[in-house]
Amino acid sequence: MEHHRHFLLVTFPAQGQINPSLQFAKRLISTGVRVTFANTVSAQRRMSNTSSVPHGLTFAPFSDGYDDGLKPNVDNIEHFMSEFQRRGSETLTDLVLDQSNKASPITCIVYTPLLTWAADVARKLHLPSALLFIQPATVFDVYYYYFNGYSDLIANRSDPSSSIDLPGLLPLTCRDLPSFFLPSNTYAFALKGFKEQLEALEKETKPQVLVNTFDALEPQGLKAVQKLNLVAIGPLIPSAYLDGKDPSDKSFGADLFKGSKDYIEWLNSKPNSSVVYVSFGSIAELPKRQMEAIANGLLQSRRPFLWVIRRPENEAESEENKILDRLEELNEEGLIVPWCSQVEVLSHASMGCFVTHCGWNSTLESLVTGVPVVAFPQWTDQPTNAKLIQDVWKTGIRVRANEEDEGIVESEELVRCLEMVMEGESAEEMRKNAKHWKDLATEAAKDGGSSDKNLRAFVDEMERERECYRIVCNE
Ligand code: UDP
Repeated sequence: MEHHRHFLLVTFPAQGQINPSLQFAKRLISTGVRVTFANTVSAQRRMSNTSSVPHGLTFAPFSDGYDDGLKPNVDNIEHFMSEFQRRGSETLTDLVLDQSNKASPITCIVYTPLLTWAADVARKLHLPSALLFIQPATVFDVYYYYFNGYSDLIANRSDPSSSIDLPGLLPLTCRDLPSFFLPSNTYAFALKGFKEQLEALEKETKPQVLVNTFDALEPQGLKAVQKLNLVAIGPLIPSAYLDGKDPSDKSFGADLFKGSKDYIEWLNSKPNSSVVYVSFGSIAELPKRQMEAIANGLLQSRRPFLWVIRRPENEAESEENKILDRLEELNEEGLIVPWCSQVEVLSHASMGCFVTHCGWNSTLESLVTGVPVVAFPQWTDQPTNAKLIQDVWKTGIRVRANEEDEGIVESEELVRCLEMVMEGESAEEMRKNAKHWKDLATEAAKDGGSSDKNLRAFVDEMERERECYRIVCNE
């Protein structure tokens, strides 16, 4: 296959960004594009499945100064971001220049959120660039409106329960907003980063924002911001679980935490649609009281459960004792693992429901596998995703936190939600809806489906822009 188009892809070294970015690389390759994936040494070390790297994909690891990975509660995130930017800009520039006289020069740079410097590198080197937004279009829109005339409506409301009506979007309330808008937000760099991102896009003549969603999932969200072209190219999920085009494409290729595979055998021993799968993604850390409430809720609900509790790699198994008081009982009723192959678990016939923090990848994975959810959001885009799950796609129910008690979700509340998702008419309805979205996701991803067409049109558009740059540069 001829690879005259060569895209450079750069992503933040977090599981939730690496997974969709790798899938995006595979999709690009299927359209005949060659991809160089610039990632950090720490992310590269975690690539578990290099044997399945497709022809046309090259990794270009570079050091961000944190080769053992970023430790969220230890390292200074702002220092990390500035080092990542400095070293990343150098690496990208060197890569583009190094390739420029070779057979397959780089023709476009694609980057994930908060890496606006990658667009600066592209502009300096006269290359087209595009943002790959790895959260829903609706969340992109909320950020856009905040920095375009709606900051007071979004962040300075006297009544937190009042409705926030943004053009083209469903009405939201305070609890549905991305957490970076809340007064309690401690990540000032995130809002600053989004502001810079939007300003950078406005500098482009034809700004391109690729979104990990699909047309039928967010028809309004994709059209709400008229000034920018939001292009749905998702869901970015391994083909084996989506369209089945490539049955060997079962893994994202990156695992930030390793675990054993015994859980599949355990799932095999459970009846169909019976297991509660619980996971809060790769970053969130829940307070001990919340962990105990979840443990008590799972025990009270008397259903088999598979619970992912991440552990630092070098920590002994017995350390879970410190996390959970009723560990012995929990191990009798369910299975606790430090990590699992989540899409594989969600696709298993024994899956009954998914108690999730509503990270965007987890949300899409629940939709693609048709598994109803108990939405248990923590921070960033997750509250908005939970709102969409409950009120738009109707594939799950969102927990209510006890505001008088530090926002803890009590065990009784978890039991109530589990019952609604697992039993009776409400459960049947959610399963039916989940199946509907699963079918639409498959439809979007298949050859000739909306996301497939959008991706091919995007690749052609980048080629046209590259030609324009070449003409201007040679004049
Ligand atoms: N994941 C996994 N095994 C686990 C937990 C999570 O493979 O035990 C994957 C999950 O499938 C998803 C990613 O890690 O692709 C988490 O991304 P998400 O956006 O859901 O949440 P984040 O980790 O960014 O909070």
